[in-house]
Amino acid sequence: MENNVENNQKTILIVEDEPPIVDILVYNLKREGYNTLEAYDGVTAVDMAFKNKPDLILLDIMLPKMDGLTVCKKIRSKYNIPILMLTARNEEIDKILGLELGADDYVTKPFSVRELMARIKANLRKSDPTSSKFVSQSVEEEETTSSDKVVTVGNLVLDLEKIEVKVDGRSIDVTLKEFEFLKYLALKQGQAVSREELLKNVWKYDYIGDERTVDVLVRRLRKKMKDDTEEPKILITKRGIGYYLKSDKLGKE
Ligand code: CA
Repeated sequence: MENNVENNQKTILIVEDEPPIVDILVYNLKREGYNTLEAYDGVTAVDMAFKNKPDLILLDIMLPKMDGLTVCKKIRSKYNIPILMLTARNEEIDKILGLELGADDYVTKPFSVRELMARIKANLRKSDPTSSKFVSQSVEEEETTSSDKVVTVGNLVLDLEKIEVKVDGRSIDVTLKEFEFLKYLALKQGQAVSREELLKNVWKYDYIGDERTVDVLVRRLRKKMKDDTEEPKILITKRGIGYYLKSDKLGKE
């Protein structure tokens, strides 16, 4: 746990009707230095959001009394704080994206605790730029200057501060995991990295490694970067080893 957490303690409202999930969330959030509040139904959630003004809300969709989508809408109409939806099904993701409810992010169940914590940090950081010190990962990171916050590899530019990716000057929308993946490869500056190493360092934690997970993410990223999946030119497969980012500008082998 970071030492500077205490003097800037954030409160997370957990809205979830399954007690075992609430328990896991409370335990992990407290361990990361957050205060927690719990609501087990939608109506209580709305009341608590207005009364307690938490810094972030974790919101399940299937809830008693009032569903999470309605809860999100109601809170959003009055109060602009990050809302992270917890979803169990793909149809729910479509709903969240389609209805423009104002949810900031969503995490699919079953979720990895580590990834959820990272998402919470990222969403708190987005909502409050002054809290950048609070979310700093390490002393090493705090000491870097602003020019070190941008990494360029070939046609790819990563802004480590804003969590932004540009390909040939065009911004692409990436998830936090995709960003961490690109960052890991970018810092290797063209060196090939094995799937095993990527799983260990990007997925980390409680992830039970299946190397295909890496391939799936790579395929998705290539699509987003418009990097030809048959003959990729940015994110490249090194046969028998893993992946690397092309460090030269396009056109040169
Ligand atoms: Ca539920």
